[in-house]
Amino acid sequence: MLGACAPISDLDVHRYRGSGLAAETVESRSHDDAANEAESTNGRTITARSFGDGSRTILLLGAIHGDEPGSHLLVRDIEDWVRRRPEVLRGLRLVSVSPVNPDGLEQGTRRNARGVDLNRNFPSRNFEPGGGRGPKPLSEPESRFLHQLLLRYDPALVLSVHQPRHSVNWDGPAEDLARAMAERCGYRAEATVGYSTPGSLGSYQGIDRARPIITLELGRHPAAGKTFFEETEAAIEYAFAWTRSFGAAGPDRGD
Ligand SMILES: [Zn+2]
Repeated sequence: MLGACAPISDLDVHRYRGSGLAAETVESRSHDDAANEAESTNGRTITARSFGDGSRTILLLGAIHGDEPGSHLLVRDIEDWVRRRPEVLRGLRLVSVSPVNPDGLEQGTRRNARGVDLNRNFPSRNFEPGGGRGPKPLSEPESRFLHQLLLRYDPALVLSVHQPRHSVNWDGPAEDLARAMAERCGYRAEATVGYSTPGSLGSYQGIDRARPIITLELGRHPAAGKTFFEETEAAIEYAFAWTRSFGAAGPDRGD
């Protein structure tokens, strides 16, 4: 069992390096075309995998920040979960992308290979150039790819996994969802991370576009004896059910 104090790098490097893309392409190939792949700054493949064919899409994102490998592990485990339990996808399509920032994940750095924080590089009204946010919105191939997926799938829910705040943060019309998820995984629900996040995906998708987005902030480590998935499964399952039943349907959002 993993010690609660093991650093992330010792804990997870083997596992995330082991989850190569080749064995994972079955689902994506069946739905996919070239638009579901992109190249990172350093030429690594970023893949969007698609599961299910329901009318409402959940866009699931891991490792936008390369120093948050637990987020990547959780996305992989959620993919395995929907393979084992396809009934959770009823009425839904899951599009998952992880790592969004493969160069950063490889190097253990928050930012991409050009030193840009991808979660500050979206075309939100509060975007501010410079300071690691990039010269302009969508200046990076990784953020451009996510933006294309947002336009293409118009997700009813974006579920973006980060570390290590141990909280469920929301933007847009997702407070009830965030509170219900937090209750189910024992994390804090929080309306703000406590500092401004110009150019963030939450600002763009949640505030400007008024669409539900949850930032699920895992802890640095899962609770003793658990994986991140075991810790959050009930919350994830609730998010799927919420999207099926209550999430914004898409075309009538009036933006
Ligand atoms: Zn993060």
